[in-house]
Amino acid sequence: MPDRPEATAPAPETAPAPGAGAGTGPETNGASAPLDPAMPVHDPRPGRVTHTLAAPTRTELADLCRALRVAQPAWERRSPAERADALVAFADALERHGENVLAALAADTGRVVESRLELDITVAALRRWAANAPGLLGAAPERPSEIPWIGIRPAARAYELVGVISPWNSPPLLSFIDAIPALAAGSSVVVKPSEVTPRFVAAVRAAAEEVPALAAVLGLVEGGAGTGAALVASVDLVAFTGSVPTGRTVARAAAERLIPVCLELGGKDPAIVCRDADLDHATSAILWGGTANAGQSCLSIERVYVHADRYAEFVGLLADKAAKVGLAHPDPALGGLGPIIDPDQAGVIQEHLDDAYTQGARAVCGGTLERIDGGTYLRPTVLTGVHHGMRVMTEETFGPILPVMPFATEDEAVALAEDSPYGLSAAVFAADAEAAVALAARLSAGAISINDAALTAVLHEGEKNAFKQSGIGGSRMGPASLARFLRRQSLLVHRGSVEDPWWHRL
Ligand code: NAD
Repeated sequence: MPDRPEATAPAPETAPAPGAGAGTGPETNGASAPLDPAMPVHDPRPGRVTHTLAAPTRTELADLCRALRVAQPAWERRSPAERADALVAFADALERHGENVLAALAADTGRVVESRLELDITVAALRRWAANAPGLLGAAPERPSEIPWIGIRPAARAYELVGVISPWNSPPLLSFIDAIPALAAGSSVVVKPSEVTPRFVAAVRAAAEEVPALAAVLGLVEGGAGTGAALVASVDLVAFTGSVPTGRTVARAAAERLIPVCLELGGKDPAIVCRDADLDHATSAILWGGTANAGQSCLSIERVYVHADRYAEFVGLLADKAAKVGLAHPDPALGGLGPIIDPDQAGVIQEHLDDAYTQGARAVCGGTLERIDGGTYLRPTVLTGVHHGMRVMTEETFGPILPVMPFATEDEAVALAEDSPYGLSAAVFAADAEAAVALAARLSAGAISINDAALTAVLHEGEKNAFKQSGIGGSRMGPASLARFLRRQSLLVHRGSVEDPWWHRL
């Protein structure tokens, strides 16, 4: 039985692509105007505009959502294994289209090495979910209840239409980390990435169109805040990744509609280095965790607390290693730190550095934004003389900056790490992994790397929640991720003809 009013649009083979003349509905109240203006999109490497945002009109988005809703029941009726086959076919198509996707991502982000890693992680996630989801979605047998003649048969129904809204720092990874389990669960999905990095949409859509069963339930749209807001107004569940302020706006809009929202927001991840830690190991891990993607990751290490007895040694080692990490310029394929993607973020980084320098911080290495051939770069920056009165210690910087502060006792280290509105992830280093685990248990963060850093960049198997203002909703990682897109049902089956004793006596 259909569980929503009969849809009026005919089921298309594939969902229409907005911007491709899909709109046919009545055009009132600005319905024919794009939901966001044709904003210039800049390429961070030459630092110039090379693309114009093509947001859908209200009518086009409505048509897309309608088509996805029409296709969803058949998608959900397919067996989990059949949906898994479509995910594998999409992974294959993404690999065939890999060079186009990577070229678009290079223009979106200025990154080559990291974009290849991102694509590989996305393809691996498709294959992993295809392998795991059927086992997780298997039908559960009926079990007896406390009432002898009533059995309980557990079932689950997918949310019909899921909206995925993602940020600019890891465009496909942070779109598909939620879209894939939603599709595996049986939902239709609309993905709207950031207006800062929209070019990969066309390349990924071309790959999806090679898998008609999947293209019918997966829409991708370019757009900014206007399109995002219209999407929140159109879907049944929102999976949002982005900043705390936008997350609040999205949560308010979702609350108004009484639809669930999963928020994955900002972070200010601490690393704690205990007195007995292996400093060679810790500095290598923290350097990567704080400067990969030029620090433009929610899970970057953004502040480091080191036992006072090892502070000078730690800073020296970290700075020596940091000075050896070059810029991904002129050849981005050779690795090193790429450009700052969003010009607005470069402004925030500059403000945090200025604030720290004014209050007495010192850059042991790096420390100055550089303009090179139009791009804006920052070499790995190690700051000393920092304290929690500085923005660089308390607000999300999103740059390759490692401010290092000494602590005297573990209690002090925990208090400093906890002095933050964020609780995304963290890292703890100690000679004894179990001692580090015990210290980690005192931290309010969803994923804590022990004797390593920022592991959730590459490892998505462990279930975790975002703590404090870093987000709300179920785990986006591990098997529990699937459950976010399912509504549990209990089919309560009355066996036999016995009359329930609480019925009216007739
Ligand atoms: P942002 O909040 O500015 O934008 C995120 C997305 O929201 C974009 O697609 C944007 O177009 C959309 N949007 C804007 N206004 C909207 C509205 N009113 N309704 C619906 N959608 C709207 O974030 P950003 O600058 O793109 O990304 C950086 C932020 O994302 C950082 O704070 C970072 O920590 C966070 N982030 C979090 C995670 C995580 O997993 N927790 C991962 C990566 C990035």
